[in-house]
Parts: sequence; C-alpha cells; structure tokens
Amino acid sequence: MELQNFTIKQINRGLKAKEFSAKELTLAYFDKIKKTDNEIGAYLGLSENLALKQAELSDEKIKNNEEISELAGVPCGIKDNILVEGEKCTCASRMLENYIASYDAGCIKKLKESGAVILGKTNLDEFAFGSSCENSAFKVTKNPHDLSCVSGGSSGGSAAAVASDQACFALGTDTGCSVRTPASFCGVVGLKTTYGSVSRSGVIASASSLDQVGPLAKNVEDAEIIFNAISGKDPKDATSVEFKYEKLTKEKPFIIGVPREFFGKGLSKDVEKIIKNTITKIEDQGFKIQEISLPSTDFALACYYIIQTSEASANLARFDGIRYGFSKRDKENLLDVYMASRGQGFGIETKRRIMLGTYSLSSGYYDAYYKKAQEVRLLIKQDFINAFAKVDLIIGPVTPFPAFKIGEKASDPLSMYLADIYTVPINLAGVPAMSLPVGKIGKLPVGLQIIANHFEENKIFNIASIIEKIV
Ligand code: GLN
Repeated sequence: MELQNFTIKQINRGLKAKEFSAKELTLAYFDKIKKTDNEIGAYLGLSENLALKQAELSDEKIKNNEEISELAGVPCGIKDNILVEGEKCTCASRMLENYIASYDAGCIKKLKESGAVILGKTNLDEFAFGSSCENSAFKVTKNPHDLSCVSGGSSGGSAAAVASDQACFALGTDTGCSVRTPASFCGVVGLKTTYGSVSRSGVIASASSLDQVGPLAKNVEDAEIIFNAISGKDPKDATSVEFKYEKLTKEKPFIIGVPREFFGKGLSKDVEKIIKNTITKIEDQGFKIQEISLPSTDFALACYYIIQTSEASANLARFDGIRYGFSKRDKENLLDVYMASRGQGFGIETKRRIMLGTYSLSSGYYDAYYKKAQEVRLLIKQDFINAFAKVDLIIGPVTPFPAFKIGEKASDPLSMYLADIYTVPINLAGVPAMSLPVGKIGKLPVGLQIIANHFEENKIFNIASIIEKIV
C-alpha cells in the first residue's frame, strides 16, 4: 500500500509507530500531485513551504514523545475560497487572481492547531457558483474516474484531490450542493454541515445565509474526525453556535424517512436503482423505513436561485476595482473603473448571478421575488420540521444523474441548475447532509444523501458507518 492510500487513523498509527515521518508523507503527496495533477487539475496552487513547516512541527512532537492529535501530520487540500494566511486565495476568479490572504479562516486556524498539513488550494467554480467546476476562470477539474467527465462543483478540486489520492482529505464549502455533488460524482464522503456548526470567518462569501464549510474524505470515520476538529463557536462568526460534537458509539434503532418527492420525474433509472437497492439493504439491517413527504421540494430550486443570487449580488459588490483585486484604473471616471474592473474581472456565470440578484432585490421587484422566496424558504424549513417529528434521518439521491461529460451542460445554465434539485432544500433549511458512495454506473460513482435535523451530524455518522460496511 502506498502512503497516499492511508486513512487518517492509519496515518496516525504509522506516525506514532515511527513507520514514516510527517515530512516523508508530505513529500510523498507532493510527488503524487506532480505526477498526476497535470491530467486531473485538482489544485490551483501548492503551499510547499507551509506544508513542510507544519509536517516538521508534528515530527518534532513525535520525536519528543509528545501527545499528537489525530490530524497531526495529515495532508489536506483546501478549497480556494477559504483563506490561508500568506497564501493566494483566488476563488477561481480573475478578480482575485493575485490576492494573498492576510489571515486564517476560522476552520483553518483549527486545522493548523490540530497539526494538519495544508498541501495547497483546490479548484472551484468561480466564487462557488456552479455544480461542475467548469466555471473556474483557470481550468476544469476532471473526474478521476473518467477524465472526460466533470468532477462536480463547486468543490470539484477538493473532491478530485481526495478521489485521486492527492490529499488525504479536503475542505469544501456547500451553498446549495457544493460538497455533496462533487463527493457523489467522485466517490468520496462529503458532509454539508449544519448552518452555524462551522465558522464562516475567512470564507469568501457566496450566499451568506446558505454557505457552510464541510469535509471531503476517503471514508466516514475520517469525515467525522475532521468535522469534530473544525466545528464549534468562533467569536469572529456571529452565526456560529456553541457546539460540542458528541459521537454516538452504539447503533441506534433509527427510523428513516424516504421522501417521495426525491424519486420523481428527472431521476435517472440507474441512480434510482442504486438508491433503492441501498434502501433495501438498510431495511435488511433492521432499520424502519418510512415513506414521507417534503411537499415544498418542487419550489426549492426557484426559491434557492432567487435567494442565492440576491445574496451573491450584494456580497460581490465589494469587488469594485478599488478595494480588492483586479483593477482597471486607467479610466476617465469612477463608473468606468467599476465597469471595466467588474466587466473583465468576473466570468460569465458570476455576471449572470449579479444581474439576477440585483434584479430580484431592486425596488418594485423585491416583494414579488426576494420576499416571496423568503416566504417559500419558511415552507421548506417547515417540511423538515414536520418530517423530523416523525423520523430520525432522511435518505435519497444526491443528484438526479451521475457525473456528466465536460461541456455537456456548460452552455445551458438551467439544465445545470436542475442538478441541484435534491441538494438545495437542505441549505435552505440549514440542516446537515452527507453524500456517501453507495454504487457505480459503469465507472462513475453514485452517492446516497443522508439528511439529519440541525446539529445531529452524529446520527448521520452513526448510520453512514453502518451503510458503508454493507455496501
Ligand atoms: N450549484 C449551486 C449553485 O450554483 C450550489 C453551489 C454551491 O454550493 N456553492 O449555486
């Protein structure tokens, strides 16, 4: 077995037994990245100095027989919309092509304290707008299982890095699908965390009421270790919540809901078969499966794409060519500076979001679009409250289809948005959900979505580790 195949627990055991050093492990990863990433395109930049420094710190501790945490010396990739002090943070945008982060995001601070080794920054759709990683201004990240297919978005670089053993784990962000869809497409475990469970400080905002940081990992146990390390209150994020993760150590007799709206028109027969087979296997383990309804699912995409674009348009107003990033200052007046900087700094999907969002928020349309979407959001939340009064967990597909061909949906934004039909309700409700690999269609992996009530990630991890064994 190569070092890059090791899970977090295996790395921890190997380091403690002095079978290899953190530095050797880090170098092995860089070696792998240099051999394979030309083809896959998971990384936008590497942070070799930082990584080796972190690795040496762990090696020093081990040499002195000091206690090390489970993540000490473990190499990871970080989505390039999360700030790592002294490293570039581009958001895969020309606008921030040369921006260097001046501080660590809350989750990065925690990762560094736990001793994790940051290998580099991973590719994404520009400002995390997308489901395929094709909206990056710099490159398309390919799916390691089939290089002609997308890796999923927007955290495609993070998912592909883990799937191709170019990182032991990675962090992504999920606003409407962006940890779960790439995890499903690339066959890794991805968790969208409860809104408020992980700090958003230092995460470049896409849509602030929806964004959450989450882990992408080789298996359920690793994802749980990472979630435990990065979650909790951060005084720098007022929406973060005092939260102490408590692992459930015993199997529980969970009642599991299957929403009928997640199996309607548009779901590929092959994906449906894999998800239904998995449900049967879960039932065979003695879990009670119950059909439920999330009646507002039909409105979720429309509601999400109004709220997401509205918040995004407001968040992106700061990129004006004066305060941050790309600037065309050789103009006659201020308006021309704004127009040239934003016109050339942003890509096409980003401009589309700004225009849609600005429209929904403008006077005369606000009540008809933004306010209406907020009312629908309440209905969607209520669906989950009603469901979790009856069941412990909800399961269903992550996406209606597996990874698609590069270019297949790129020119048709509406068909791309449809990929998010089962994932956006979760962000609108603020609840946590995992994508767990449960099967393949040909070479392409398929994920099962496991959804829990707010702050009940422990239930997700508990059932996911059982399902992981039976599939
Ligand atoms: N696909 C969704 C969008 O384009 C979600 C992206 C995300 O979660 N960042 O907005």
